[in-house]
Amino acid sequence: MDSVKIWEKGWLKKQEDIYILRMFMPFPLKENNCFIIEVDDGWIVLDTGVNLEQNRDLFLSALKAIGITMRSIKAVYLTHYHHDHSGLAGWLQKMCDVPVFLPQDDLITWQRFIETDKYFDTSLKECLMAGWPEEFVHELSDNIKFINTYIQPTPEYVAYSAGLSLNLHGQEYRAIAVPGHSDGHMVYFNPGSGILFPGDNVVDHTILHLTDWPHSYLENPCDVHLDALTGLRNLDINLVIPGHGKTFTDLKGKIDLITAHHERRKRTVYEAIKTPSTAWEIASDVFKPNQYIHIRRLVLAETLGYLHSLLSEGQVERELSDGRYIYKRS
Ligand SMILES: [Zn+2]
Repeated sequence: MDSVKIWEKGWLKKQEDIYILRMFMPFPLKENNCFIIEVDDGWIVLDTGVNLEQNRDLFLSALKAIGITMRSIKAVYLTHYHHDHSGLAGWLQKMCDVPVFLPQDDLITWQRFIETDKYFDTSLKECLMAGWPEEFVHELSDNIKFINTYIQPTPEYVAYSAGLSLNLHGQEYRAIAVPGHSDGHMVYFNPGSGILFPGDNVVDHTILHLTDWPHSYLENPCDVHLDALTGLRNLDINLVIPGHGKTFTDLKGKIDLITAHHERRKRTVYEAIKTPSTAWEIASDVFKPNQYIHIRRLVLAETLGYLHSLLSEGQVERELSDGRYIYKRS
């Protein structure tokens, strides 16, 4: 795409000194945002897109339109490891010889599940305990292998933790941990400008999943996630620039919507436990049937998230029977 069209067609936008590049994504969300931002000694990229020729072409056109080159890029930062955010990081590392920073807890997930060719063995026990049949685990393992084709080559990662401070064009952005969507998910906030990059935690047009199960070590992802989101309510916000879709300003309103949505769903899950059941039996009762294994993973993930929250409140109990957890109301 030429550098005039990229503006005209709205693939590239500039808001508050931040270049927002819409990247194409061959999955239900269809698009995600990549940010190209000036720093003291050059430019950084915050989140990328999946590695497709179309996205590489978009990225190069964006650099041209901004008036910089690959050599201007000094580092890549990722809010979380998911393929739509990390996909081009390895390509960028190869092209620009730059470090790629990933949250520490996501690096653990990455090494345990994504980088390995033992996804099936690593996930099997956990999936069976949640009530899935073994064939679903094979399907999920194949699906992950397929998705991994969009993140080749994979980069060498440098781990970072909450508190990391990024100097973007004279503005200090702090990394704040919001676990859930992925265990290590970070958001970036600048108190001076009031700009927040919330990644996938808060987007304008939908509510994304709050747990990354089975790629997770979180005991109670639902409560951990909602607590972290509640913490963001106190930030003095001027602009929110999310990982997908349009920018917005009403962060508090969106967090309230998300919290209410999950409280409602948790109640629905609780009410669905009529007889002792596995998490998958409960999920199948609550959510519409779907043949796509990734959606099946996400509805089971959320159901487990709500069940663990209910367990911690003492509303539900569970016992292991024949390798499967059976849940019942207390
Ligand atoms: Zn995403």
